[in-house]
Parts: sequence; structure tokens; C-alpha cells
Amino acid sequence: MKEKESKKTIYVPDIAKITRIEEVTPTEKLFNIVFEEPKKQEEFSFKPGQFVELTVFGVGEAPFSITSNPNNKEYFQLCIRNIGNVSGALHRMKEGSKVGIRGPFGNGYFPYEKMKNHNVLIIAGGLGLAPLMSLIRYILDSRDDYKEIMIIYGAVNPASILYKEDIGEWCKRDDIRVCLTVDNPDDKWTGEIGVCTNLIPRVDFPPEDTKVVVCGPPVMYKYVVQELEKKEFAPEDVYLSLERRMECGVGKCNHCHIGNKLSCVDGPVFSLWEIKNLKEAI
Ligand SMILES: Cc1cc2nc3c(=O)[nH]c(=O)nc-3n(C[C@H](O)[C@H](O)[C@H](O)COP(=O)(O)OP(=O)(O)OC[C@H]3O[C@@H](n4cnc5c(N)ncnc54)[C@H](O)[C@@H]3O)c2cc1C
Repeated sequence: MKEKESKKTIYVPDIAKITRIEEVTPTEKLFNIVFEEPKKQEEFSFKPGQFVELTVFGVGEAPFSITSNPNNKEYFQLCIRNIGNVSGALHRMKEGSKVGIRGPFGNGYFPYEKMKNHNVLIIAGGLGLAPLMSLIRYILDSRDDYKEIMIIYGAVNPASILYKEDIGEWCKRDDIRVCLTVDNPDDKWTGEIGVCTNLIPRVDFPPEDTKVVVCGPPVMYKYVVQELEKKEFAPEDVYLSLERRMECGVGKCNHCHIGNKLSCVDGPVFSLWEIKNLKEAI
């Protein structure tokens, strides 16, 4: 046994089981996952913004952000868009199927400790809400540790809005402000229309007492940062999750470099201060 353990490398995944699959939009499903080895499940801990490398055996491996609350020790959850080989194979899997998991990876995470006793502004675009869910769930567990919370979320259309149930619950609370917008409304949509950047001018949090987190498609970052700069948020108080084409997840293959940084080990969450002079970053 000892010999077997000593041969285990960072490239060997642990076997885990998909215990629940929920279709949340026409293109995204949530997967609850539990390690086969109970001790591994017990010991698995992560920080909001970290990711795992998931293997679909016989197909391939891809990184996915963890969306569940770090306080949840029963399972962890991923939100996966059906886009290609690995994600497509996952979407065809059934509850009970086995996958391989490496991680959690990423040294840059959403700094929930630094956010304590400050206002928190969360800006999500599309699938970018998924990694932020882990942070939002964690913060709401210890709501009193944080000042005001505002969530700005932009989706392409009403059908593509993720986590509708959670958003419905947040909207009922008086201790979180939720601003939802869609690019392309349908006949029933009565809310905001346009990109999430349009809602930033309405933010009235004092910059010196606010931490900002951002996650969305690459095209969004430049415009969000421009709006945040107009509001005079300091670059060291703005955190962005930068996903890049990643392979190993552990800083060996160099696929995910952003200037002199590697998204997998230096990120995927960076402060704007760290990356603002890297032209490939945003
Ligand atoms: C840190 C991190 C966290 C991620 N979290 C999530 C998540 O929570 N949910 C989720 O659905 N996806 C997430 N992704 C993306 C995911 O890892 C895969 O890239 C995606 O699922 C496509 O893989 P595939 O094998 O299904 O598609 P493939 O068969 O590899 O490719 C399908 C198409 O997408 C393009 N493509 C694939 N990956 C990328 C990329 N990274 N950048 C640009 N183009 C690409 C390919 O060129 C191809 O055109 C994350 C990526 C990173 C780096």
C-alpha cells in the first residue's frame, strides 16, 4: 500500500462519482461529485475561485471551477457548458458515472478574508457566475462579516440565466442587492436590457471601503475595468478570474501563461494591480 501511495503523482486523478446532475439551461448542467474514497472526500477542501481538473476516461481532461460552498463537505459541484469533447461527454453521462479528479488547483482565489468588514461588489457575465457562486455561498453563510453586497449579473438571454433559484432567493432578501440584465430579452422579460457594464455607473459603494470581484467572458473585462476605474476603485481591490487554455493545472506545461504569470498556479484569480501591465491579460 505504501509503495502504491508513493508512486502517486500530481498527474494521477482520484476516482469520484457523479451523484446528481441537474440541467439548468439548454447548454449548462450542474454536477454534484463525491470522491469514492471517503477519506479523500473528508479531506477535500478548497477556496472560492479554485478549480479541479476533471477527466472523462477515454475522452480527456479539462479544468472546471468549483461552484459549491467550501463549507459543504458532502460533495462539490461543477457547472458545465456543453461546448466540446470533455464537456460534451460529461453532458452525456448519467448519475452514478465515474470521473477522475485532480486538485483543487489555483493559488489565486477570491480573497474572502480581505473582503471581511467591507462592501462587496460582484460582477458576473454568463458562465462567469459559476466560479463566483462558491464565493457568494460562502459569504452568505457568514453574512454578518461583510458590509453591503451587490451582485451584477448579465446573461445573453433569459433562458441562459444560471442559478435562477438562488437568484430568486437573493432577490427576496434585504441584505443583498441583485441587478440582473440580459442582452436579448424575450416577450416576458421585464428587467434590465443590455450588457452588465451598463449597470456599474449605478454602484454607490465608496471605493475605499469596497472589494470588487469579476468573472465573465474575456471580452467583458476591458469594459468592466474601464467602468470600475471611472468609479476610482483601486486596482488592488479589484479581483478578476482569468481563464486561459489550461492543460496540466500545476505550472508545468506553460499553456496558460499570461505574460510572466501562469493562470493555473499564479491565478486563476488575480488582482487588477498584479496584471494591469500585462498586455495579454485584459
Ligand atoms: C480555470 C478554468 C476554469 C474553468 N471553469 C469552467 C466551468 O466552471 N465551466 C465550464 O463549462 N467550463 C469551464 N472552463 C472551460 C473548460 O475547461 C473547457 O475549456 C471547456 O469545457 C471546453 O473543453 P472541451 O474539451 O469540452 O472542448 P474542446 O473539445 O477542447 O473545444 C471545444 C471548442 O472550444 C474551444 N476552447 C476550448 N477550451 C478553450 C479555452 N479555454 N479558451 C478558448 N477556447 C477554448 C476549442 O478551441 C474548440 O473550438 C474553465 C477553464 C479554466 C481554464
